[in-house]
Amino acid sequence: MKTLKKISVIAVLILSLCFAATASYAASDLTTAQQYNPLSRASMSASSGKAETRTLRVYLPSAGKITFYADKFSVSDKSTYSILSSKGADLLTSRLSTLKGKTIKFLGGGTYYFRFSLTAGDNIANLLYTYDSDNAFDETHSIALRKGETVPVKKYVKSFKSNYMYIVSNVRIATVKNGQISAIKPGNNTIEAFSSTGEHVKINVFVSDSVSSGIEIQGANMIWKGESFNYTYSYTDGKTYTDHEIVWSVSGNGTVTKKGKLTANAKGDAVLTVTDKTAGMSSSMTVHFISDASEVDFVPTINGIQIANKTYPLPSDYDPGLDKDTLAAYNKMAADAAKEGLSFNIISSYRSYNKQVQTYNHWKSLYGKAEADRCSARPGFSEHQLGLAIDVNSCYTSFAYTKEGKWLAKNCWKYGFILRYPSVAAEKITGYIYEPWHIRYVGTELAKKLYQSGQTLEEYLGVDSYYRQ
Ligand SMILES: [Zn+2]
Repeated sequence: MKTLKKISVIAVLILSLCFAATASYAASDLTTAQQYNPLSRASMSASSGKAETRTLRVYLPSAGKITFYADKFSVSDKSTYSILSSKGADLLTSRLSTLKGKTIKFLGGGTYYFRFSLTAGDNIANLLYTYDSDNAFDETHSIALRKGETVPVKKYVKSFKSNYMYIVSNVRIATVKNGQISAIKPGNNTIEAFSSTGEHVKINVFVSDSVSSGIEIQGANMIWKGESFNYTYSYTDGKTYTDHEIVWSVSGNGTVTKKGKLTANAKGDAVLTVTDKTAGMSSSMTVHFISDASEVDFVPTINGIQIANKTYPLPSDYDPGLDKDTLAAYNKMAADAAKEGLSFNIISSYRSYNKQVQTYNHWKSLYGKAEADRCSARPGFSEHQLGLAIDVNSCYTSFAYTKEGKWLAKNCWKYGFILRYPSVAAEKITGYIYEPWHIRYVGTELAKKLYQSGQTLEEYLGVDSYYRQ
């Protein structure tokens, strides 16, 4: 059996099938991932004297190939298997006896069903199926870890709209435990993380005994058609290597300069790559070029920070609710303030797209479109839809002069919040009037930085905020 270059095992939900406890393949036939991941095995038989039908549900994060192996594969010539897409289309029906060792190519990700029509007497032991993706990744990260070091997976899947699952190519080199990538022994390894909504990220993990470095691209995951964004890169060890040869490249409808300035020439996706030729490392990310807010089916993210403003819209179906960390930080802040005799209450936090339709229309009917745009976001452009913003106490500028208003401006950074629309002067940068009541959670590290520098989030990220349409 040929050894595939990169075989990973997909996480699957198996219906009406038993798991086999052991497998006995020749080690040379299988990669480590296959040997270690028991989710990929199934046994079935119809030896009870009657025909049976079994169904396997398989989720593919992206286009790729599935290959089948089996310890024992004794089936009748009459037995068949069919592959159906989740939409019910019958993609293929074939003789079951041909399945062992077969590689089936899938042109797109999604849910597929394998329907096995077994004839009496059929026996399949330890049917094992592996998935080899077509490298259709939204982002590729290269990270270097020292033996024993850990790093959160969350750091690399920030743009995901739902929870992630993952595949580890060699669990003896690095593995994932409790949301942490954990380096075990020196070697190279890949971790693929994918979400149920189709996002797909690859993390190359280099584990060494001593310190070394990975490279990461910094910048926005979307650009409006006809516009540009200046991308940068950093090393995961926090150092800078000024003598290294750096090369930027891009696929798709983009052009990139030697300095990393990427221009979106037409709508569509492009993959931007930065390569450190000296160290032999690279990092890439998908950048979405858009010409209309309705094309956004991802959360706009810049340098790992989620953003929603007049330049960066959210998908209308993005519905995360109020972020747990944000609420916990607010509760801690309100409790501490209460000890000083101050009283905080939430007047608005998470607002869905549909709720924002009402909110925006309310202001529009009162003041007209131009004025409404100064104090309220159009649906899909509100930071409240991110689940990271909270309005406290009172939506009047006079709140700034209350004890609570003054305390909030001075102390909210300690809890990871920033005043998102911090002054009258900042309206030309943020796109919104002074809102002393609106706080945005960014985490304590960034909140401290912004408090000390006095920068708005737009200034810190080097972006603007105005409607293109
Ligand atoms: Zn607000």
